[in-house]
Amino acid sequence: MKQYMLPAVLLSIFEIVAVTLCITKDNLFYLFNFSYIGISISLGVFLFIRKYKYARRIVQLLVGLYMLIYLGLICRENMQIEGFWYYLFSGVFEAATIHYAVAKIFGPLLFGRGWCGYACWTAMVLDFLPYKTSKEPRRNLEWIRYITFSASLVFVSALFLYKVTNLEHIMFFAFIAGNIIYYGIGIGLAFALKDNRAFCKYICPVTVFLKPMSYFSLIRIKCDKEKCVSCGKCKQVCPMDVDITDNSRKRKNGTECILCMECVKNCPKGAL
Ligand code: SF4
Ligand code: SF4
Ligand code: SF4
Repeated sequence: MKQYMLPAVLLSIFEIVAVTLCITKDNLFYLFNFSYIGISISLGVFLFIRKYKYARRIVQLLVGLYMLIYLGLICRENMQIEGFWYYLFSGVFEAATIHYAVAKIFGPLLFGRGWCGYACWTAMVLDFLPYKTSKEPRRNLEWIRYITFSASLVFVSALFLYKVTNLEHIMFFAFIAGNIIYYGIGIGLAFALKDNRAFCKYICPVTVFLKPMSYFSLIRIKCDKEKCVSCGKCKQVCPMDVDITDNSRKRKNGTECILCMECVKNCPKGAL
């Protein structure tokens, strides 16, 4: 039973957040929202412990579809980065700001880029494409993420500066348009560079938050040098080109790790 402690602890943490927010904000939505996410993640960890092959993909679909369809399209919350700026400038501490604070700004101090491996609705689709790992070296295109990040900030700032009305409406359509653009670029780039995660590596504006915070992540993959036989299998299966056998925080592409566990599953010596 000891091995099932982790999903139980995770579920308890989410329930504490759910109940606390529900009481302090007097809104039942938080109870439902965080309970649902907690159950999805705990189920994924449980299935992973049971060695079920598609455990991560199940969590990704449960959380990603919930956020995209229920929160985004039905509740009309813009959960993209523009939505974060919008709610932040409006002074509203609601779903998108809470979501960014928990999943993308402070959460990565604990669980790194777990969001990218288990919950992101953009990667949820990209991970279905055929190029699980890139066979080619990384391109020098990482600067693009700063342009997309700045563009989102300028777009929302301009709406506020010019006192544009009907902002709720605009943000909803920005969410739909933004997702169509992300999926279009993400899928196109995956085929062009033969790399499912090319969008994550070069374009995604959220990585401007995720990367520096995940540098300090408490949860990270470490290599037991005593067991490692330097076969290189772990690096071959890593979708994010992380130099896993280097245990230092400065390891190559260290802040790219999405905790997908492919390296752990494929290490023949159980060194990770
Ligand atoms: S890098 Fe961006 S697109 Fe990729 S998984 Fe993370 S948040 Fe999603
Ligand atoms: S797969 Fe395991 S044994 Fe092989 S290099 Fe990686 S950590 Fe070492
Ligand atoms: S394969 Fe390992 S190092 Fe690479 S992203 Fe997945 S968990 Fe991180």
